[in-house]
Amino acid sequence: MQDVVIIGGGTAGLTAALYLLRAGKHVLILESEVFGGQISSSPRVENYPGIMQISGSEFTDQLLEQVTALGAQIEMERATSIQERDGMKIVITDEHEYPCKSVIIATGSKHRHLGISQEEDFIGRGVSYCAVCDGAFFRGKETAVVGGGSAALQSALYLSQFCTHVYLIVRRNVFRGEPHLVKAIEQKENISVLYNTIVSALEGDTVLTGLTLKSTDTQTISHLPVTGLFVSIGQAPDNTAFSDILDLDAGGYISAGEDCKTSSEGIFAAGDCRSKAVRQLTTAASDGTISALAACQYIDSL
Ligand SMILES: Cc1cc2nc3c(=O)[nH]c(=O)nc-3n(C[C@H](O)[C@H](O)[C@H](O)COP(=O)(O)OP(=O)(O)OC[C@H]3O[C@@H](n4cnc5c(N)ncnc54)[C@H](O)[C@@H]3O)c2cc1C
Repeated sequence: MQDVVIIGGGTAGLTAALYLLRAGKHVLILESEVFGGQISSSPRVENYPGIMQISGSEFTDQLLEQVTALGAQIEMERATSIQERDGMKIVITDEHEYPCKSVIIATGSKHRHLGISQEEDFIGRGVSYCAVCDGAFFRGKETAVVGGGSAALQSALYLSQFCTHVYLIVRRNVFRGEPHLVKAIEQKENISVLYNTIVSALEGDTVLTGLTLKSTDTQTISHLPVTGLFVSIGQAPDNTAFSDILDLDAGGYISAGEDCKTSSEGIFAAGDCRSKAVRQLTTAASDGTISALAACQYIDSL
């Protein structure tokens, strides 16, 4: 029996493993797609303390090497549910059942994509889903943000500090974001709002050079020459597999505070999969640490 099964091998899950293994616990990490999670697709990370610049895949490789060197057991399997039986927790995958004393869920979340042609090809080549992560690469450039909610408004305001101009592309004729953010947008001279507009195509050969826009009113097509497009149309967690054993919030995130404790004793949530305001590598690593130490405390009290 494992001490802890960690579901998700992203930054939060791997950091949790690091702390658990150093505390002498037996750990199994389950990963359904790619070890490293979201960051593995990023070409450049420049905001992780102590590291000037690193690619997402190199960051992941080092983290994975660190935990495997400490003896973590890793399996490429998708967790489909967690059950409680005879005082044990059982993590169930398509192939196996893993009994354990405690579980850390670190399943992350995914940024919603526009779903247009070439979008995946341009990720890291002009298309981004995180202004805080990638905005600095577009200093002195013209950029665009898609979305009408608070996150999109915040992204546009953030970019306006160092981009020469920011175009905010909104599908409807109103914002869904908070009024004080709307007011701040209206006061910024280098932000233009394009209402009733969608991005219908991405332009460029190997890097983004512009956008093809379509008016939802008149169906008119226009072109916008920008080198950066920040898609901010929401994030989607996938925690439905755990909804019968713990509480999720209205957005589908696991209800857990800074202590990473869920509504189910002995099950912890770490990283982007839990309710929180800031989703970054540093906050994922922080949650990994907190959840691991909380799991140690829980196991030692059994
Ligand atoms: C393109 C891009 C660039 C970014 N750049 C930066 C940056 O420069 N700086 C920064 O701080 N942040 C950046 N971020 C955000 C950062 O990557 C995330 O905040 C961070 O990865 C969250 O870590 P996590 O471990 O919580 O989740 P994730 O990284 O999402 O990892 C979760 C893992 O769980 C796995 N999983 C999900 N469900 C299951 C299941 N049922 N069973 C088994 N495994 C499962 C997933 O496959 C995934 O590997 C970026 C994000 C993206 C998408």
